[in-house]
Amino acid sequence: MASKYTSSFQRPSEVSDLSEKQAVFRIDVDAPTGSLLSNRLHLKHGYLRYLRTLIQQMTEFGIKATFMFIPNRTTPTPDILGEILDTQSEVALHADEVLPGKLAQQKTEMERAVGESISGISYHGRDLIDFIVHKITRKNRYVAYHNPFSSMLAGFRYDATGYLQNRPEFLGLSDKRILLFPNYRDITLGPPIIRFDESLLQQQLNLYMIHPNYLDKYGFRRSRRDEIRAIFDHVTKRGAQVRTYAEVCEDYERMARS
Ligand SMILES: [Zn+2]
Repeated sequence: MASKYTSSFQRPSEVSDLSEKQAVFRIDVDAPTGSLLSNRLHLKHGYLRYLRTLIQQMTEFGIKATFMFIPNRTTPTPDILGEILDTQSEVALHADEVLPGKLAQQKTEMERAVGESISGISYHGRDLIDFIVHKITRKNRYVAYHNPFSSMLAGFRYDATGYLQNRPEFLGLSDKRILLFPNYRDITLGPPIIRFDESLLQQQLNLYMIHPNYLDKYGFRRSRRDEIRAIFDHVTKRGAQVRTYAEVCEDYERMARS
């Protein structure tokens, strides 16, 4: 198809030529509770055990996802990492630092722990209320001011934090660029999702966030296990293409080169 655009980078509208709808599942592996003490207990007795329910369901439906891990707090063990990679999933960084140098360091450390290169980042904080972030990270409120230039300077290829745009778009500065993803929908928070046909897969690229620690019951929060399973079932039956952020990013990079 001849492009009617003359700008130096490709317009993302070309992506909609793909006939199939795409779904990306983003798994934010946050600490299991808002309490520092009980987090330590959870991590000590059954570290990241709460991922098992999700991995089982993904395996059942042949679904892959992008797992975002927080350095030093939810870095995966070799066991869990093996199970995740078996689902063809991607590992990305869920960062709590804002300075490019620190982000680059976290990237290197996570790559060492995972044994694969990490191309994506999302900022841990946009998915939480500010005061909880403050309590968990013990950092000042400046953490809310993550900016995508930091991710770019730290060497990431994409930033999935969630920006105010309708489609993925490149942010560029001199010879560097990074793909910024639009906002996602958290399918483990808020009222139950009903009428899947009218509320899911409404866009060409559908970004769904899962907090795996909400799948089973924690405290007063109701379990989301059956709901997530039903969503996996729906997405599979509707024939949507389930992809990782990295795969979508590669498409955009390819289009921008051509
Ligand atoms: Zn988070």
